[in-house]
Amino acid sequence: MSIVDVHVHLTPKCFIDVVQKGEDWYGMTVEDGELDNPKNLWTPEQRIAEMDRLGVDMHLVSPTDVFYQYHQEPTVTAKIARACNTEISELANAYPQRFMGLGTLPLQDIDLALAELEYGMGRLGLKGFMIDDHVNGVTYDDPVFDPFWERVERLGAFMLVHQYGPTVTETRTRKYFLHNTVGNSVDRALTYGCLVGGGVMDRFPSLKICLGHAGGFVPYAVDRMDKGWEMFPKYRGMAEKPPSKYLDRFYYDTTTFTDRNLRFLVDVVGSDRVVLGSDWPAPMAVDDPVGAIRDSPVLLEREKEAILWGNISKALG
Ligand SMILES: [Zn+2]
Repeated sequence: MSIVDVHVHLTPKCFIDVVQKGEDWYGMTVEDGELDNPKNLWTPEQRIAEMDRLGVDMHLVSPTDVFYQYHQEPTVTAKIARACNTEISELANAYPQRFMGLGTLPLQDIDLALAELEYGMGRLGLKGFMIDDHVNGVTYDDPVFDPFWERVERLGAFMLVHQYGPTVTETRTRKYFLHNTVGNSVDRALTYGCLVGGGVMDRFPSLKICLGHAGGFVPYAVDRMDKGWEMFPKYRGMAEKPPSKYLDRFYYDTTTFTDRNLRFLVDVVGSDRVVLGSDWPAPMAVDDPVGAIRDSPVLLEREKEAILWGNISKALG
């Protein structure tokens, strides 16, 4: 069984090569690349050596969130997605024992997104895609996304939900790094609430959605969501059951940072829903993701096995 890290990002070389010459790449510049973080310039050989040291067999690699580019003209975003997805596919094909790929989609245009979804899952052999918590402010309960979720479900794509700036908290304050430490987590709770309230999880029961950053505040917020569901029926939307009944319909990565949060996550969502994820090479990554699980004093052996390889092998199988 392979130990798979589902939350790893690539800044594509096709972008780096152009912007380092001072040119722009489909409207994106060197500023978009966070290239001052040398880890974003990683090569497969360097990374494989590090994976061996950390005891990680496989990475499920996604483009860095900046490559969503949903605000651009849709055909431009489609070209960006195709270039990113092709490069990730080439990486996975070159090192099939070490890398698998998640792509990105031009989600502001459903027809273009469906075309890239088909191409990515078919021709490129991707395992799924990483998507933002919203598309230019539109949340995934909007009926415009129904054909998208229908196709995602039919193709069995693994979807990693992952914010990009600005997160929702930035209308209140842009100080103290809260846009990341709090904003990421709030964004994820909103996505959960919208997918559940919009009936998406009822209409498409086989979706494989992983809520990045350990589900954000979902595990803590869901009991309050249940109380609201009980007290204010008119706000239930299309959810057939209380919000907490959908916890086991999602996956959650292990960017919890502490044993107490890890245990809380597992207690709330179930050890069969948690998958290894580090967020490497971001500065907010878990440095030793396998060690954090394997050496954790708060997990049972069978829980460790499920989190390290059992759950993801079922999800991608
Ligand atoms: Zn990330």
